[in-house]
Amino acid sequence: MTLIDGVKQSRSVRDGVRDGVAAMTSRGLPAPHLAAVLIGDDPASVTYVGMKERGCRRVGMRSTVYRLPADASQGQAEALIAQLNASPDVDGILVQHPVPRGLDEQAILDRVSPAKDVDGLSTTSLGLLAAGRPGFRACTPLGIMELLDRYNIEIEGREAVVVGRSNILGKPMALLMLQRHATVTICHSRTADLASVTRRADILVVAVGRAELVTGDMIKEGATVVDAGYNRVPGRTLDVGDVEFKSASAVASHITPVPGGVGPMTIAMLLRNTLDAARALRGSPA
Ligand code: NAP
Repeated sequence: MTLIDGVKQSRSVRDGVRDGVAAMTSRGLPAPHLAAVLIGDDPASVTYVGMKERGCRRVGMRSTVYRLPADASQGQAEALIAQLNASPDVDGILVQHPVPRGLDEQAILDRVSPAKDVDGLSTTSLGLLAAGRPGFRACTPLGIMELLDRYNIEIEGREAVVVGRSNILGKPMALLMLQRHATVTICHSRTADLASVTRRADILVVAVGRAELVTGDMIKEGATVVDAGYNRVPGRTLDVGDVEFKSASAVASHITPVPGGVGPMTIAMLLRNTLDAARALRGSPA
């Protein structure tokens, strides 16, 4: 069994981004600039935005956090996005999820210009993916594809099963696999007999948000298992994935651990998308 090491691979992605940023600044161009929109003061969101800022700093990018109060109106949020879209100094825009109750998060995301949508979460970006057209892809599924490629996991012609169908994870994941010519099945909360479907998978991606939902007996011998979940479980110090690691690792050929698998790749892909956005906006070569 091979452990898919997201920490190591994310470091290598970030090294590549750092080189790209250095090449840009050495030509006298400003470093890429990520604008993070943080609405309200949800502690987890504050932490995530802080991690993204640190990630930018470490690769030589600029980042600015634009804060709005928890009682900001839909109009205020959308006006801020319009201002960032129009700013020639901003290359990438991310809206930290979740936004406070009462705001329409997707409507805010949909205001982000496709050229700056480095999180790939607007309806336009998802539509471009569905249509197989160039555009920014959501960072977590993009990071999973990067891991599969870095471990030389064959995708074309193989049976891929994605458990979960959210717009941020399951759906774009399935579309990315389809684009690479896998035969794709998507499962969700209303799938009858989940195990009979997951057992067919050569590549199984689980993105549900339920601790250890998928156990070894639901996995085909020799499958590649990617666990996107992280769940806080009382009494356990580390986050727990959606896959029961012990039984799954006894049958899988490749498996991502939690933590240290999919998680670290997400910010790395955000940084890479931001570099790509800056290159495209400046007409700068890759
Ligand atoms: P989400 O929006 O809550 O979607 C969960 C999906 O799982 C839904 O499609 C739901 O089906 C499905 N589901 C729920 N219970 C199920 C069951 N018993 N059997 C089969 N499917 C079931 O969650 P998400 O945002 O996609 O996140 C999924 C997981 O990934 C979470 O653990 C989250 O923390 C993690 N995550 C990780 C990263 C990262 O960077 N590593 C990023 C984002 C999320 P219905 O559609 O029918 O409700």
